[in-house]
Amino acid sequence: MKIWLNGKIVPEEEAKVSVFDHGLLYGDGVFEGIRSYNSRIFKLDEHLERFYKSARAIMLKISLSLKELEEAIIKTLRANNLKDAYIRVVTTRGVGDLGLDPVKCPSPTIFIIASKIQFYPRELYGKGLRLVTVPTRRSDIESLNPAIKSLNYLNNILAKIEATNSGALEALMLNRDGYVVECSGDNIFMVKNGTLLTPPISVGTLEGITRNVVIDLAQSFKINCLEPLLTRYDLYNSDEIFLTGTAAEIIPVTELDGRSIKDGKVGPFTKRLMLGFKELVNQEGKEYAL
Ligand code: PMP
Repeated sequence: MKIWLNGKIVPEEEAKVSVFDHGLLYGDGVFEGIRSYNSRIFKLDEHLERFYKSARAIMLKISLSLKELEEAIIKTLRANNLKDAYIRVVTTRGVGDLGLDPVKCPSPTIFIIASKIQFYPRELYGKGLRLVTVPTRRSDIESLNPAIKSLNYLNNILAKIEATNSGALEALMLNRDGYVVECSGDNIFMVKNGTLLTPPISVGTLEGITRNVVIDLAQSFKINCLEPLLTRYDLYNSDEIFLTGTAAEIIPVTELDGRSIKDGKVGPFTKRLMLGFKELVNQEGKEYAL
């Protein structure tokens, strides 16, 4: 595998960062996960916009212009001869001393990995995922706003460990007030009486790119979509649940905390949106030639 690291394409074995990099020492940095489908990068502009916004929020200057970053991503895809890829773009505060002070990190590190990903086992897209609510609450907006896609993912990792300990692949996370926020690496939707519902950004949800795609798809299908405060009770009594994410795409949930959702089968709205999503990723996106 070839990695784009600080302006150069290098073999994986040579793609190394210092132990004094604050991305490693403190999780001081931001990242994006992007997909390409059949030589088209899906929602590239949206992902890059979020990347620059995350960096701005932590006062980290991205050393490349938007255009340069776009070119670097395509260069990485070409170097790895990938038509279908999961692309990880990462920038860190760079090398500093052992203190926290980012001022002592003069030069940010930036790298791009283009690879393959199969997030959840394929068969779960047909039969649905088992989800559990975990004790760890999603980071508070006023502490570390989940809107920032920072390298500090310990909040999500703790949730993931708790889910794994309960034999589930994904964790439902609530905020301090007990409202549904999202999962450790995915947004959540439910369907009730033909209406699509997802938690609002204001509860501390990452504004997922896939979440927005689903909201747009729903609109084009004339499905009403609302963003109210949601509790676990609402989810337990929903008709359908599914999760969204760049890696996961749209994956149905058929069981939550031991309750089967409706009849425990993947519902019609989920199926329709999954199909719509599949069509979209094959039509849209920034084209590149290998
Ligand atoms: N929430 C969290 C915490 C995530 O890490 C992700 C993955 N980026 C998502 C939601 C889904 O966002 P997206 O659709 O932009 O991948």
